[in-house]
Amino acid sequence: MRHILILGGTTEGRRLAEELAKAPGVRVTSSLAGRVSEPRLPPGEVRVGGFGGADGLADWLREHRVDTLVDATHPFAQGISRNAARAAATAGVRLLALRRPGWLPVPGDRWHLVDSLEQAAAALPALGRRALLTTGRQGLAAFARVEDVHLVARSVEPPDPPLPADLTVLLSRGPFHLDDERAVFREHRIDVLVTKDSGGAATAPKLAVARELGLPVLIVRRPGLPDGVPTVPDVAGALGELGLGCDTVGPIGPE
Ligand code: NAP
Repeated sequence: MRHILILGGTTEGRRLAEELAKAPGVRVTSSLAGRVSEPRLPPGEVRVGGFGGADGLADWLREHRVDTLVDATHPFAQGISRNAARAAATAGVRLLALRRPGWLPVPGDRWHLVDSLEQAAAALPALGRRALLTTGRQGLAAFARVEDVHLVARSVEPPDPPLPADLTVLLSRGPFHLDDERAVFREHRIDVLVTKDSGGAATAPKLAVARELGLPVLIVRRPGLPDGVPTVPDVAGALGELGLGCDTVGPIGPE
């Protein structure tokens, strides 16, 4: 049995586990950080919680005889990707990164690119008075001292303090559809959007709504992956790299 460990917490990680669970001769384990109280669980084995740094992950890889480590974590989950690169090198395990491509602007977009949430917070008051923040609950602290802007923050779980004073929290989990996004912008009278460049279709409709309304969008650029990690953009690419194309797992299910 080949043992593949997927570092997940993303749609792509779950979709890859679904495909690998169909492959003969493959044991698949998905690892989740445990940030979400009721995660959507992939098929195959699942473990939850940190490994205790790169050394802990390297120990886990050796102990569980992992052949390939797939880093399918979110493009902004920097710590775990760094640990994955170090641990794979230490344990002598093959590493593959699965990263959905970032978004690209199209005509009509009014994007303002920044390098961090802190830069986004500093730039925000000049761009609008009512902001939809889709940067995740962990990033909300960066906006704690923003003044003169009403913040509407969307997250899966309630955010922890310190929280901005002028805040509405919307608890919901994607995918988000175009009409629902239009309703959010309308109901909350949003005049600026703040997002990370997460990429992917599931959360892209908010960008289309901002474009329709001619609103500015503050976009936090992605951090890079550690040097030299082979990277694929989608599940089909990952299966190909793993030598498990459609001949082995059959047609790939819908996204
Ligand atoms: P992070 O800052 O890169 O990781 C912090 C620590 O959390 C890691 O050192 C590791 O702990 C643990 N960890 C992270 N991902 C893990 C995984 N898949 N399995 C086991 N342990 C994991 O990560 P983050 O930005 O907090 O993201 C946490 C998880 O949420 C990731 O799995 C990511 O895919 C998902 N996610 C993140 C974002 C985002 O915007 N950052 C958005 C959507 C989903 P140890 O050092 O103890 O091993």
